[in-house]
Amino acid sequence: MRLDDFDPNINVGDQRGQGGGFGGGGGGGMLLGLLPLIGSRFGCGGIVVALILLAVFGGLGNLGSMIGMGGGGSSAPTTRSAPAGTTEATKACTVDAESRAACNAYSSADKTWEAIFAKSGQQFRQPSLQFYSGNGRSGCGAAQSAMGPFYCPTDQGIYLDTSFFNELANRFGAKGDFAQDYVIAHEFGHHIQNLLGTSDQVQRAQARASEAEGNAISVRLELQADCYAGVWAAQNRDRLEPGDIQEGMTAAQAIGDDTLQKESQGRVMPDSFTHGTSAQRMAWLKRGLDSGDPAQCDTFSGAI
Ligand SMILES: [Zn+2]
Repeated sequence: MRLDDFDPNINVGDQRGQGGGFGGGGGGGMLLGLLPLIGSRFGCGGIVVALILLAVFGGLGNLGSMIGMGGGGSSAPTTRSAPAGTTEATKACTVDAESRAACNAYSSADKTWEAIFAKSGQQFRQPSLQFYSGNGRSGCGAAQSAMGPFYCPTDQGIYLDTSFFNELANRFGAKGDFAQDYVIAHEFGHHIQNLLGTSDQVQRAQARASEAEGNAISVRLELQADCYAGVWAAQNRDRLEPGDIQEGMTAAQAIGDDTLQKESQGRVMPDSFTHGTSAQRMAWLKRGLDSGDPAQCDTFSGAI
């Protein structure tokens, strides 16, 4: 995808080179990731680790309470963000080619969604893009590269360890710039859901639901983020290059719940799906790509 260079005034934070490590204040709330958090990407030991992390950092305890703040919340972000107009974004975005690619995609998504919101008279707020390496901090607790990229509604940050792009290409077989763009656009989609109150509604519904029902609702939320990623790309259709859409489809295919579970466990457990099957992820990404219309991304009514 031929994206413009990032706007130097975008909201970017960078924890790289700060020593990493856990810590950094109480956060809470749900992480909205690109990938299923528990199970597929971790071995058995990893599942325990992930559960402990969730318990320690409040991922299980505070569902529903921390999400969808309209602003002025008391839970301050624990990361530095560059105020507009400084060179902080420029510094962070030019660390390497992966950082630049992430910033360019984020910057494009930012412009695109701001315009969509303006058209419908809704107020848009920019998320931040937060780089970290290995272990970092977020308003939702510890950030760990093993989690994959995620969005934290509490501090409205998109968290990225750019080493994930290597994993995407090598482990998941999803190469190419558009596969990376899709990752950023998916996380941006979670920010849109946060602004629209969708993730808030989902959290409340999940609080009343059984585990299987909660997972099913999560699938709908994640598929909508995939659809929103497609909407962003469609709104920038003139910038797409041959092969881009295929790169996106390959990525969506590779990170479906069924595909990941088959790889890691040799079988699938649909009740535990949180992100949707490969077929569903591809279908909703395509729906966004075909329509360019967020209204077509209603994953909550009807069959998915
Ligand atoms: Zn997601």
